[in-house]
Amino acid sequence: MQNKQVRLQDFEILQTLGTGSFGRVRLAKQKSNSKHVALKMLKKCEILRLKQVDHINSEFKILHQIQHPFIIELLGYTQDERYLYFVLEYIQGGELFTYLRNAGTIENDEAQFYSAQIVLMFEYLHSKTIVYRDLKPENLLIQQNGYLKLTDFGFAKVVEDHTYTLCGTPEYLAPEILLNKGHGRPVDWWCLGIIIYEMLAGIDPFNDEDPMAIYQKILKGKVKFPKNFDNDAKELIKNLLVSDVSKRLGNLKNGANDIKQHKWYQTLNWESLIKKQIRPKYLPSVRTDDDTSNFAVYPDSTELPDPIKQNDDPFRDW
Ligand code: AMP
Repeated sequence: MQNKQVRLQDFEILQTLGTGSFGRVRLAKQKSNSKHVALKMLKKCEILRLKQVDHINSEFKILHQIQHPFIIELLGYTQDERYLYFVLEYIQGGELFTYLRNAGTIENDEAQFYSAQIVLMFEYLHSKTIVYRDLKPENLLIQQNGYLKLTDFGFAKVVEDHTYTLCGTPEYLAPEILLNKGHGRPVDWWCLGIIIYEMLAGIDPFNDEDPMAIYQKILKGKVKFPKNFDNDAKELIKNLLVSDVSKRLGNLKNGANDIKQHKWYQTLNWESLIKKQIRPKYLPSVRTDDDTSNFAVYPDSTELPDPIKQNDDPFRDW
């Protein structure tokens, strides 16, 4: 594991960019070079209370070993008695979630552009036997150049075969997770189907106010498409949202290549995509290095979480 340990005093901690299960992600300025980074602060007491030590250890290890143009880079880490800190590159364009919510729906070519990047992210992660397990537009950040970066590896796991932990976001849960049958890499391809649908239809396919009703719809597996939905996209989604994992696209003999060669992506040049040579339709407005206007405003918090005594601290040897 590379040593990227940093010192907290080398950063000026600024406003909140977003919140997660264990704390906040804040903008921070590296004092030495005035470069801005995102500081993910995880409350140790919360991690212990929710018995999530293994998940966090796994997030940490995975972030260390990945390097991909469409995945967030871990620049460093540190800790004190209250928090673990991940120093991440700062992605200024905000969440894909915000962009989609403002846009309502997006056109075919734009949905192809974003979803194809997701295909490449998963192809890469799966090649390292990592299952991501938490795809949703909130975890996809838009770079200043219009391309995506996947963030939040809190549910990601190295899985050789199957795992059984229930995790994810209700609308995006694959049936095998709900049925607790054991799950693996195919859950990510299920989520790809959900997000393509959501980008084109403006709503997710199994939506409901009540999570139990969402689960029932997922298990029933009937997907209704709005009128004028692109036929090739429909065909791809139907092949991704297949309950039987042995028949789900992405999990067949040719793996991710079956998705890449699907008709819907016929006009997309995969080589150009990875080289970022395709011109994105949307470029976020970013004025300065510390511009946070693409993120929601969060009230400041002065409350400090309880410190953890050294002997009780499972992260003391990090
Ligand atoms: P997380 O706990 O990792 O899901 O992060 C919570 C939220 O913080 C995300 O949904 C983003 O809005 C924001 N965020 C996380 N990482 C970054 C980053 N590297 N750059 C900018 N914003 C981020």
